[in-house]
Amino acid sequence: MHTQVSNQPGTLFVVATPIGNLGDLSPRALKTLSEVSLIAAEDTRHSARLLKQHSVNVPTVSLHEHNERQAMDKVLSRLLGGEDVALISDAGTPLISDPGFNLLRACREADLPVSPVPGPSAVIAALSVAGLPTDRFTFAGFLPRQQGARRERLQQLAGVTETLVFYESCHRIADGLGDLAAVFGDERPAALCRELTKVYETVLRGSLATLCERVTQDLDQQRGEMVLVVGGAPAVAAETLPADVERLLQVLVAELPVKQAAALAAHWSGLKKNALYARAQAIRDAEC
Ligand code: SAM
Repeated sequence: MHTQVSNQPGTLFVVATPIGNLGDLSPRALKTLSEVSLIAAEDTRHSARLLKQHSVNVPTVSLHEHNERQAMDKVLSRLLGGEDVALISDAGTPLISDPGFNLLRACREADLPVSPVPGPSAVIAALSVAGLPTDRFTFAGFLPRQQGARRERLQQLAGVTETLVFYESCHRIADGLGDLAAVFGDERPAALCRELTKVYETVLRGSLATLCERVTQDLDQQRGEMVLVVGGAPAVAAETLPADVERLLQVLVAELPVKQAAALAAHWSGLKKNALYARAQAIRDAEC
């Protein structure tokens, strides 16, 4: 790795770190963190614990949501000077609901080399144990805090036939599950994956209504960090729609994005957008 000024730019290594169990830092992540000349960390005090545990003595600079643009100038000048830099976040993979996008975009614009050092991410860890289909999934990140906006977002997602993954705060999990059950229906299968890789790791599997009841009754289930994995909407078969609507949807899906096709067909037919979205998605899936 480069540590001296050279004509060659350095590489930005995007390094995944543990989401709980410190033993999950990979040997390559440790080697990379030990060999770069600077580590850009979301919260330098938080990462100090991990770095100290592994005797990494490389200087750090903080790069978080509120200072990303200024901090990134520091990182870019190091990279342009030929030094390698690592980007880490507080936990898991940087940029996955974590800072770093502006830096990555700047590297892309400046044609600077970027290399991943992959490892833990809560979204993948949760999917791997939820027991719901994983061949395709939609990562929906955090839902809005306000109930009105949250329900509106859920309405948009109600017809998605792929498994959905949400990050959720312990303060909003009970309300979030209540809204999910109200919008997606009580019976949708789901898994609440809590404190993964940590001492109190728990995976609750059941319908949205069951999970909502369990979490509401047991306050321990509202503690810690959590990912909610929700089964997709059941695919709508062709014969469930009137023949003329099915034909229209086939034509629209051939020309337009699924969402727009479903919205136009709903407008024309007066049928519910969610059902049409699910059928439009099934038509698109069959095309691929
Ligand atoms: N970049 C991280 C990643 O790759 O997973 C995610 C950062 S995001 C700010 C933090 C959220 O990730 C938490 O609110 C929670 O939803 C989820 N999360 C992180 N660690 C977790 C864990 N050990 N168990 C369950 N969920 C976790």
